[in-house]
Amino acid sequence: MEKKYIMAMDQGTTSCRTILFDRRGNICSMAQKEFPQYYPQPGWVEHDPMEIWSSQLSVSTEAMSKIRVSPEEIAAIGITNQRETTIIWDKETGDPIYPAIVWQCRRTADMIEELRETGFDKTLWARTGLVPDAYFSGTKIKWILDHVEGARERAQKGELLFGTVDTWLIWNLTKGGVHVTDYTNASRTMLFDIRRLQWDEEILERFQIPMEMLPKVEPSSKIYGSAEVFGAPIPVSGAAGDQQAALFGQCCVQPGDVKNTYGTGCFLLMHTGDTPVQSRDGLLTTVCIDEKGCPAYALEGSVFVAGAAIQWLRDGLGVIEKASDSEICCRAVEDTGGTYLVPAFTGMGAPYWNQDARGIFVGLTRGVGKDHMVRAAVESLAYQVYDLIRTMEKEAQIDLRELRVDGGACANDFLMQFQADILEARVIRPKCIETTALGAAYLAGLAVGYWEDIEEIRKNWAVEARFDPKMETKRREDLLHGWERAVRTAVYWATEK
Ligand code: ADP
Repeated sequence: MEKKYIMAMDQGTTSCRTILFDRRGNICSMAQKEFPQYYPQPGWVEHDPMEIWSSQLSVSTEAMSKIRVSPEEIAAIGITNQRETTIIWDKETGDPIYPAIVWQCRRTADMIEELRETGFDKTLWARTGLVPDAYFSGTKIKWILDHVEGARERAQKGELLFGTVDTWLIWNLTKGGVHVTDYTNASRTMLFDIRRLQWDEEILERFQIPMEMLPKVEPSSKIYGSAEVFGAPIPVSGAAGDQQAALFGQCCVQPGDVKNTYGTGCFLLMHTGDTPVQSRDGLLTTVCIDEKGCPAYALEGSVFVAGAAIQWLRDGLGVIEKASDSEICCRAVEDTGGTYLVPAFTGMGAPYWNQDARGIFVGLTRGVGKDHMVRAAVESLAYQVYDLIRTMEKEAQIDLRELRVDGGACANDFLMQFQADILEARVIRPKCIETTALGAAYLAGLAVGYWEDIEEIRKNWAVEARFDPKMETKRREDLLHGWERAVRTAVYWATEK
């Protein structure tokens, strides 16, 4: 039977989705399902690994039955997943020994503090490229081994397996036959030496994590095994963490290629080729994928509050009814009337790093109305992205050529134009903004020859809208100067008690 489709499993933090793509990269079928979030204590976040697996399986069969596809028509399966979330299970029975500890979970924050006190944080940073934090897998694994009775001994005996969600899904798809992860997911565990591309023995020893329980690390595009749960075998041949999959799905495979996802927060990645750039400004160095599907490096930064600022306008202040109304407000006025919003609701990330900073609106006058304030909020997304990109350019010594965008808020044309103006660079929105799933599909399809090479994939990549910078230099500089002053004011508010 003709292999018509690639199946992409997109296992996110709140939902499981499966998309079937055709050769042109068109979405032919999609199914999605939310699954429960568990908050057993303040700051703790868990998922049930069995619920993740059963939801992913059910949306996959649903996506197939919606368009009556048989497993024989699927050339391969690619997986992309919420990163860092940690699962440990029994090798024989497949039963998890503890719930999945989700990346957002803060329960190991004290462990990170202790590591800082002993100076080991510097080793972690140098080897893994990560700024040590509770959200990576390392301390979560240690926590489970410390707290579940007998777990460490069993792990030492080789009775337990660890995996991030990619590993867990592959293991279940192959009915326990294959225990692997890919380089991008491994690079988020805080246990992986990103230069030697190996698990780091010294870090493992420090955390008392037995090597036996870790998955074999493989390229993101490779046949790992065969899914045996759909009635006929399907090769499982692609895996990548969500942000790296999106970077690949945007065809950002060369040094200097940059994508930004405008969601609740923003996730920015800059491909830096075969050079891992060690950031001094708190950006993360992470493994991404080159045009052959092999490991390469990227700088990663995030904006904590992006689309969330628009949600706040809608749900907190009630000044707009739906997120897309923000664009109408922006266009109803000439400018923000001199106001700025610094949405430091949870502190400020790179390059400022100030946990105590809080949000401010500055420059209010009697003439300022709702539309000005909404516009200030929308513009704040662009300024924050600007700050991150300038930091990346400086550290990687690469000039931005263009910015490729995806995520919910990239639908806002006003924002995209303003972003291009402020960056003085072209902003490009592709036709298919399901770039995460698409990236996973491409990785899987390349491994089985469904797509020949990256050139064939590039032909699929189509531009939906292009935004060229057109703001006068003087105006741009004045606006940026105002933003800098607003940020300084937010920091002043936090530090001058
Ligand atoms: P996530 O995956 O983080 O949940 P999405 O990629 O679905 O986020 O994007 C949703 C976010 O984008 C929300 O925070 C919403 O406020 C914002 N958003 C959606 N549409 C628009 C728009 N037209 N203008 C501005 N923000 C928008």
